[in-house]
Amino acid sequence: MSETGACDAIVVGGGIVGTSAAFFLRRRGLAVTLLERRLCGQEASGVNFGNIRRQARPIEQLPLANRAYAIWERLPELVGEDCEFLPAGHLRIGYAEDREEVFRQYARDAEPFGLGLEISVGPEVRKRFPYLSPEVKAVCLAPRDGHANPRLAAPAFARAARAAGVTVNENTIVTGIGKSGEDFRVATAKGEWRAPLVLVATGAWAGPLCESLGEPVPLEVRSPQMGVTEPTNYRIRPTHDVSTTHKPEALYFRQVKRGNIVFGGCASGPADPVAGRSRVLPESTLLQLPQLRRLAPALGQLNVIRVWGGIEGYLPDSLPVVGPSEKWPGLYYAFGFCGHGFQTGPGVGDAMAELMATGTTATPLGAYSLARFRAAA
Ligand SMILES: Cc1cc2nc3c(=O)[nH]c(=O)nc-3n(C[C@H](O)[C@H](O)[C@H](O)COP(=O)(O)OP(=O)(O)OC[C@H]3O[C@@H](n4cnc5c(N)ncnc54)[C@H](O)[C@@H]3O)c2cc1C
Repeated sequence: MSETGACDAIVVGGGIVGTSAAFFLRRRGLAVTLLERRLCGQEASGVNFGNIRRQARPIEQLPLANRAYAIWERLPELVGEDCEFLPAGHLRIGYAEDREEVFRQYARDAEPFGLGLEISVGPEVRKRFPYLSPEVKAVCLAPRDGHANPRLAAPAFARAARAAGVTVNENTIVTGIGKSGEDFRVATAKGEWRAPLVLVATGAWAGPLCESLGEPVPLEVRSPQMGVTEPTNYRIRPTHDVSTTHKPEALYFRQVKRGNIVFGGCASGPADPVAGRSRVLPESTLLQLPQLRRLAPALGQLNVIRVWGGIEGYLPDSLPVVGPSEKWPGLYYAFGFCGHGFQTGPGVGDAMAELMATGTTATPLGAYSLARFRAAA
């Protein structure tokens, strides 16, 4: 296979969004090339917390989250493995008195989307979840949400895409995108690829590419802060997420089948997309551990064995950019998932493939347009 060439669609970036978009574009019959600067799934998509959470997303995001959820459920059939997707529930936790009403309002608003939310309050909380602290006043369970293994998902999509006929080029950095005639010319150190359709799915690295295309975006880069404990008996199946307006208590955790407790939240750390480095600040871990003990006191006895971060892109309104370029017909963007793009990723890939192949998509994407930043400027 030559290192360069022409095809129907080029996907830049091999995270969960880019690999799934390439996979679904190929299933729609397009000749597709995927260009990834490192290895597929090595960045945010491969190091995240693994939350497959629909509840607590903005209501207008639920059609996209449900589209993604249907793909998570069908992974074995689509990509040949389940990526440890476990629909064991997602539990939203409330310490403050106002949380019960927040949960009830959300349950009313989300009712048409079939999340099946179950609210418990007072003594009922401890009857159902005896390991939770008496401080917890109310919880809301989304029984079919859950978690998956981030290390497995994007590489599985990349392998399935390759098996379906996508040309997957790893260790290939895109250095520029230009247009001549009908085709975009996508430049890399290894040569140039051409196609009439291009998707920029470069996560936290999207800023400079957008700028060079004359469509700047206010993308900030930060690192969520993660940690994992030694293993203990496997007892806790749902993911837990503290619902609060006070970020330093916003802890989340889940237990993997091997027994370790994976946790995150409460703070962000620095990340440098150019150097490809992110850091966990010691003070973040020191904030998280008392919150973990506060939420489930027995977990306070466990030793932490590792901490890590990742490089994630954030936009000022906490929503991603997903949709067509305002300036270049045939160019599309999907990036800036603000810490929440692992769950929606395969749905975004599928919706973008539909949009690029047919010119339209059944999933509303209007809230994610680039135009919202021009309107605010
Ligand atoms: C620590 C952490 C915890 C998180 N927890 C969760 C969670 O529990 N649930 C959830 O839903 N979301 C979570 N997220 C967010 C989620 O991981 C991301 O939103 C999602 O993975 C974004 O996918 P992506 O494909 O857009 O980006 P990435 O996975 O970052 O992929 C972008 C790819 O583009 C490549 N690239 C960049 N520039 C170029 C270039 N010029 N040429 C070629 N390739 C390029 C990069 O190498 C990278 O592989 C978390 C994120 C982090 C970092």
